[in-house]
Order: sequence, then C-alpha cells, then structure tokens
Amino acid sequence: MVKINENYLKLPGSYLFSTIAKKVNAYIEANPDKKVIRLGIGDVTQPLAPAIIEALHGAVDEMGSAESFHGYAPDLGYAFLRETIANEDYISRGCQIGADEIFVSDGAKSDCGNIQEIFDENCTIAVCDPVYPVYVDSNVMAGRTGVYDEVTGKWSNVIYMPCTAENQFVPELPERTPDLIYLCVPNNPTGTTLTRDQLKVWVDYANKNGAVILYDAAYEAYIAEEDVPHTIYEIEGAKTCAIEFRSFSKNAGFTGVRLGFTVIPKELVRGGTSLHALWARRHGTKFNGAPYIIQKAGMAVYSEEGKAQLKEQVAYYMRNANVIYNGLKEAGCEVYGGVNAPYIWLKVPGGMTSWEFFDLLLEEASVVGTPGSGFGPSGEGYFRLTAFGTYENTVEAIERLKKMPSLRK
Ligand SMILES: *Cc1c(COP(=O)(O)O)cnc(C)c1O
Repeated sequence: MVKINENYLKLPGSYLFSTIAKKVNAYIEANPDKKVIRLGIGDVTQPLAPAIIEALHGAVDEMGSAESFHGYAPDLGYAFLRETIANEDYISRGCQIGADEIFVSDGAKSDCGNIQEIFDENCTIAVCDPVYPVYVDSNVMAGRTGVYDEVTGKWSNVIYMPCTAENQFVPELPERTPDLIYLCVPNNPTGTTLTRDQLKVWVDYANKNGAVILYDAAYEAYIAEEDVPHTIYEIEGAKTCAIEFRSFSKNAGFTGVRLGFTVIPKELVRGGTSLHALWARRHGTKFNGAPYIIQKAGMAVYSEEGKAQLKEQVAYYMRNANVIYNGLKEAGCEVYGGVNAPYIWLKVPGGMTSWEFFDLLLEEASVVGTPGSGFGPSGEGYFRLTAFGTYENTVEAIERLKKMPSLRK
C-alpha cells in the first residue's frame, strides 16, 4: 500500500481567500444593486507594457522558423538574460554578482517554496509574523515545522518574529537561533521595509550564527526611499549568508506570464558545501528552463523603452497607494506601508478584529480588503488594502470608506 506524505495533512485549510470569496458572494446576492470594489487583490491589473508585447511577438515569430527556433532553454537561464540581470540589477548598484550566480525561473513563488529542499529536515525556520504564507507552508510539507496549534495559530517548531506597530514592523533577533531566516522587503502584507542599517543587523547575525537569510525582494521596483536597499547584496557580508528571490510579476505585470530569478553567490557555503552547486543540481534535475519566449520578454523589461513604460506602471499603482494612504489618514486611521510597496496596512479602528472590520467595510462601503489575521497571529487587528486596482475604483472606494458611519467620529 502506498503511503502519502502525511505532512500535507497537517496543513490547516487555506480559508482566507475562500472565506473572503464566500462572504463577498453572499453580499452581492443580498445587494445586487451595489457595486463592490475589490482592494484585496494581490495581483496586478494593468496590461503588459507595449515593449513587452513587442518582444513577445518577436520571439513567437522566431519560434516559427527552423533557423531561429529554440527548444529546451538552458536549465539556469539564457546567458543574454542572466548577463542583463547581473548588470542592471546588481553591478549597476555596486554589487558584484556574476551572471553565473543568477538562476532564471518561472517565478519567485516556486523558488521561495522550493529552496527549503536543499536544507536538512531538522533546520529551524524563522519567519516574520504576519507573513507571506508560502514560506511556512512549504516547510510544513517538508515536515520541518512540528505541530500546529489551532488556538495560537502557530507551529511548534517555527520561530515567529512579530512585526507590529509596537516595533515599527522591524523583526527583532530571536531568542532561539534559527537556521533559515525568511525576510520579505518591501513586505507583503505590511508594505513596510527595512533600512540598510536594520538589514545589516540580520546579515551580521546570520554570518555569526551560520544561518542563511532567504530574502524575497519581489517588490523591489516599488522602493521610493533612499535608505531602503534594493537588494540584500548592498549590505556588506550578505554574499556569505543570503539567497535573494526576485520576480517579474510586480514590476512588469508578469503574474500570468511567469518569470523570476534567484541569486545564490558562490561564496555562500554551509557545512563545507556550496549552496550554489546544490541549487544548480536541483534546478538541473527538476526544472527544464523558463521558456525562450518569456525570457525574451524579460529582456524588454530592461530595454530603455521598457524601463520607461514600467516606471509609469509602477507609478500608476503607487498613485493608488497614495490615495489609499492619505484617505485613511484623513479618516483618522493608523496607517502603515504604501510608500515603498503597493500594500497599505491599517490598524483596525475601535478595537475590532480583522474579520469584524472586513464585514463592516463590506457592509457599509461595499469594499473588499484582506483581514490581517489571515497572514499570521500578529496580523490580528490589522487589515491589508492593495494598490493594484484601477485609479477610478480606488478613489471611489476611499471616498466611500471615508463616509462609513462607523468610522465617522
Ligand atoms: C507576488 C509575490 C511573489 C511573486 O511570485 P511570482 O511567483 O514571481 O509571481 C513572491 N513573493 C511575494 C511576497 C509576493 O507577494
């Protein structure tokens, strides 16, 4: 009799987005005349930029003739893209990352979910709380997280680092030393960041303790402030302790196109073994390369035209973020994020729970957001709104929110 991987059975149901969908559907049924505005989405909505569409068309045509047809891509990515990434994202920022330290993939979710495979099953992980669920769930599947406590919403063998208004959303060094430290900067869901000095603390800590930082920089393109690092390799010492994940999803709208990359410096060695070599082996065995067509589209992200168009796209979303941020402030709310990230994290007013505020917002304003408690126990009492809607809907949603009877003082 075959036995299944029982770790999968330990995963608590992913109720967050299904519960939201159920509640929204029930509301629409009861209020067919109301226009519901969704500010809960973590997906982009703007169409692909013209430079990217042009590159896609060009690459599709290439595939139609024998001379320019491309079969399997190199496992680790085409040299043209890896060299461009190394130059544009790293060398130009003074970070000595080589093209051969970049692994092109089909997105950051796969990479930050799969990376744990190259580490021992007894490694202890540390995550920020609230957190992007992939980091924890992928370790649950690998049997690394211990027992789930329904009451606290915590795993017995996961180190939770609360990030709340009380510590300005800056995780504190844990009492128990973790092996793997997941950091997401700028952060999903809180929209907050770490400064170079704050990140340096973690790099020093990881080097001192032989830990590895798994650094998710999916929202790098949204950074506006000077003292926020665009890559962890801006921090001295990061090359001996950090793996960085990047995505084309949020900077270029590739959520449905699929492209990302992971950086593993060759100096990153643990237990006498190069993590770069392990990941190369893993990639070579389980991944057959991101499609040629998509990697060509990725090149357009770095063209002069593409850069200009994407700068506008990011600015479009950040104008929404600004509308949400300022509107909530005017409504008297305590608001975070929204400056270096397309997420606004608000403290739920009046001591309500995240879900109580969800219901109220839907009932009184027909606006949908995401309860903070869905991202971890320390998200309770907070609420996430995203800047990924249209400008018109965002403005309308915030106008409605400001008029909510229970928010008016
Ligand atoms: C959206 C997102 C990603 C990107 O995932 P892709 O698979 O590249 O689309 C990665 N990490 C975080 C925290 C995200 O929010």
